[in-house]
Amino acid sequence: MTRPTRAGIDLDALRHNFAVARKLAGAARTVAVVKANGYGHGAVAVARALAGTADALGVACIEEAQELRESGIRTPILLLEGVVAPDELALVDRLALAMVVHSREQLEWVRAARPARPLACWLKLDSGMHRLGFTADAFAAAHAALAQCPQVGDLVLMTHLARADELDHPYTHRQLALFAQACAGLAARRSLASSAGLLAWPAAIADWVRPGIMLYGASPLPQAHPAATRLRPVMTLESALIAVRDLQAGESIGYGGRFVCEHPTRVGVVAAGYADGYPRHARDGTPVAVNGQLTRLIGRVSMDMLTVDLTGLPHARSGDPVELWGTQVSANAVAAASDTIPYQLFTGVSRRVQLIYRAGETALASANGDP
Ligand SMILES: *Cc1c(COP(=O)(O)O)cnc(C)c1O
Repeated sequence: MTRPTRAGIDLDALRHNFAVARKLAGAARTVAVVKANGYGHGAVAVARALAGTADALGVACIEEAQELRESGIRTPILLLEGVVAPDELALVDRLALAMVVHSREQLEWVRAARPARPLACWLKLDSGMHRLGFTADAFAAAHAALAQCPQVGDLVLMTHLARADELDHPYTHRQLALFAQACAGLAARRSLASSAGLLAWPAAIADWVRPGIMLYGASPLPQAHPAATRLRPVMTLESALIAVRDLQAGESIGYGGRFVCEHPTRVGVVAAGYADGYPRHARDGTPVAVNGQLTRLIGRVSMDMLTVDLTGLPHARSGDPVELWGTQVSANAVAAASDTIPYQLFTGVSRRVQLIYRAGETALASANGDP
């Protein structure tokens, strides 16, 4: 008997979501973002599932790119933050990576590099995120400097939207206008949209899109959106009941006694807690499914266990299956009840949780992070 807490990963759902993204993207090419171990889904498994369909993969750092290359992934890879030191350029060259160039320092490193093959660079404009990128008045000069380098091959102009999840906020309009202005007259392909841009801002689609979260079946948007309803959850975080008990009115549950029973209450103890990645801040009432029936979290989440209300499920007993998020309980709903976002839920699933891959007829077990 192994611990019942595991994450099922539905690679067919992933491919379906990729097809949804591709359809929205029209003629634009797609960088499938697989940083942070494929948002917790296993970067190598995700990359393999999308091989031949994704035009490129997006990662945060060179170590993530290295893992993919060492696993035999040949899809083009984009380093979303570029290199953090000049000596990484040798690896960029060897692993045939494309990289973001967002600062004067990085630009100087590229100018000084003598790679064996042309460097593909994505020049980043800071259009309002104010995190990475050249300012609008330095952008054309940075582009000219890169374009003059014989060692630079493909050149893409990019920016990142700060508020694309706010469906009609003027900030996005301003970022789009600023980017268009900064790129005017520069001959290069363009990229602005991550999932929120792709779902909700057709004007942001341009030549390359960079969807992440939507590929994993969660929405970056706080409210329901017709394009997002077509997405299918990829990860199902599942566990089981390990104890069931009946409490009387007035008795409390767990640390701090946060939940006090108003009525006689049947309580189920689930073998998953915050050390597995379930959010400790989940409120009483957060949805949970037991035996396929919806019920609610009651009481504070502990490290290895959490407690649920079984009052309406009189037949539930120890060993019964519990879904914490997935197809019955959306990760967006759990995130909303925990003051967080599905990104943090997925990337927070810990090493203790085995990832079980399911695609069509095949189910493939593997250790977390090592498909
Ligand atoms: C992470 C990231 C993305 C993907 O964002 P989602 O909201 O997950 O779609 C796109 N572009 C950049 C630069 C990123 O860092």
